[in-house]
Amino acid sequence: MSRNSTRAGRNVAEEERLVKQVSPKSEDFSRWYLEIIRKTEMADYAPMKGMMVIRPYGYGVWENIQRLLDRRLKAAGHANAYFPLFIPESFLQKEMAHVEGFAPEVAWVTQGGRDELEERLAVRPTSEAIVGSMFAKWIKSYRDLPVLINQWANIVRWEKVTRPFLRTTEFLWQEGHTAHATEEEARKETLDILGIYREFIETELAIPAVAGRKTDWDKFAGALQTYSLEALMSDGKALQMGTSHHLGQNFSKVFGIRFEDKNQALQHVWQTSWGVSTRLIGAVVMVHGDDSGLRLPPAVAPVQVVIVPISLGDWKTTVLPVARRVEGELLRAGIRVKLDDREEFTPGWKFSDWEMRGAPLRLEVGPRDVKERKAVAVRRDVRGKTSLPLDTLPETVNRLLGEIQVGLLEQARAFLADNTRFTDDYEEFKRLIESRRGFLIAPWCGARECEEKVKQETAAGIRVIPLEPESEPGELCLACGRKSESRAYFARAY
Ligand SMILES: [Zn+2]
Repeated sequence: MSRNSTRAGRNVAEEERLVKQVSPKSEDFSRWYLEIIRKTEMADYAPMKGMMVIRPYGYGVWENIQRLLDRRLKAAGHANAYFPLFIPESFLQKEMAHVEGFAPEVAWVTQGGRDELEERLAVRPTSEAIVGSMFAKWIKSYRDLPVLINQWANIVRWEKVTRPFLRTTEFLWQEGHTAHATEEEARKETLDILGIYREFIETELAIPAVAGRKTDWDKFAGALQTYSLEALMSDGKALQMGTSHHLGQNFSKVFGIRFEDKNQALQHVWQTSWGVSTRLIGAVVMVHGDDSGLRLPPAVAPVQVVIVPISLGDWKTTVLPVARRVEGELLRAGIRVKLDDREEFTPGWKFSDWEMRGAPLRLEVGPRDVKERKAVAVRRDVRGKTSLPLDTLPETVNRLLGEIQVGLLEQARAFLADNTRFTDDYEEFKRLIESRRGFLIAPWCGARECEEKVKQETAAGIRVIPLEPESEPGELCLACGRKSESRAYFARAY
């Protein structure tokens, strides 16, 4: 094809192969994931075991996630603050269930400068303890409530098995911490946040998620209830996308967070906490990626549109100025655009490179296009080529980006629907989990032993119990045959 022009002495086919040396996703999903993360320069392994460096291309996705979620949290009344990285051991130990939940993963600071510390300091595995101690100082009266705080921060959990973005010793997240006068308000906040997360994940990341409650043995240490959003990755395994915890009065009782109510009676506040992390970037890679690489939803793509000038003839005086003008127009229209005018690479090489990096839309401008006042647009999601008039480019490009965003969500929704099945027959359950994975909705009696039996025999555990139990009367537990209490979503998971 004429657009794959050669540069002197280079073989285009060879160059394209270099870019495409990625293990096919269908052959080895895990290897594909690790290669994509590194080849697209989203992240790299740090010299320390279990840690990663988020490179600019990956951090660009995180910045978009931050901006789009932060806007939603603020609109719902939350304000950002920052709490210390170090937490005294005695603070963590005040809430025993909490400290037991984190004990194996906490990193400790025992020395400051040359001096041994009198009390060792935990590097925050989460901030409930330090936030609770401060809330006790700040909250005195019902007039001080509710307190709606969010923090963008880093977290350390000493993980044994790690994978970039999905599980690393240090990661970035936001953690919300709120205090309320009544249980009802705290419960509403917990579910409102779950709703905000779900809408955000669907709208901006183009990922549909199942919402529900965690089992009592799988909830956050110290919470009354944990709610979670679970999405299906394209290998059929589930990934927890975010959690929202109703903390009840567990922390307010240990940290003495009390307020005087309208009748001058002292009450303990009701609290919530909730978070999503850089793990969402891993989800975007695993849900939308294909054999050629990433497919980034336009809403979070660091580069939404790449312009590749076709280097034919005296392109620097004919094509390049037009490509620059197009870049300027798109920039002014608020589109994140990049003109790839690198001379050391052929257009064909750039096509494959940006395909691998998952830029949603590519615009090609060649000598003939310049004459006809057109550009060729290629969508990353469906790969179709269309010719677009230069005069109306910003509007057309904005419309196409919107279509790509919706298209990716529709594909992911179809995948979720195709891979979510109901069964109350344990033999069929085993067969489906082995052959196709996905979510299996099954009736369940509520007993922990039954989940454990299923997990041991199939490696699939309960991800969530739907918010409205959908059990039909007469349904029997998948594992024991007793009366079902509710249906549950089972899956193998990351
Ligand atoms: Zn059972």
